[in-house]
Amino acid sequence: MKNDCVFCGIVAGAIASSKVYEDDQVIVINDINPKAKVHMLILPKHHISSVSEIEEIDAPLMGHMIMVAKKIADEAGLKGYKLLINVNKEGGQVVFHVHMHLLGGRHIHIAEC
Ligand code: AMP
Repeated sequence: MKNDCVFCGIVAGAIASSKVYEDDQVIVINDINPKAKVHMLILPKHHISSVSEIEEIDAPLMGHMIMVAKKIADEAGLKGYKLLINVNKEGGQVVFHVHMHLLGGRHIHIAEC
């Protein structure tokens, strides 16, 4: 838990969120500023600032995030979707607590990389 981290605040329940799913490792929330009809964020409860900081020991957690994304997408009835992780400022990351975007509901094209 990092004191000045908004997603740690959400995990701790100190900051309100629209929670979709929770287990012992992750929570899933609706994005506050959705960029698609369905836009959720899968985030680990444990604070890791960025994918650039993960280590081998984090591999099962990262895999679990994908499994949870698949489950949530299936439950939402999505036939197709995108999973996206922005890495560092130069990669478009704004919140420095690892999170995976689940985007669906229409065709979304990555226009800029
Ligand atoms: P990123 O650019 O990958 O760091 O994305 C951060 C995402 O977090 C953005 O899509 C924001 O809309 C979203 N976000 C920021 N604060 C909150 C919040 N309090 N609750 C839900 N989503 C948030």
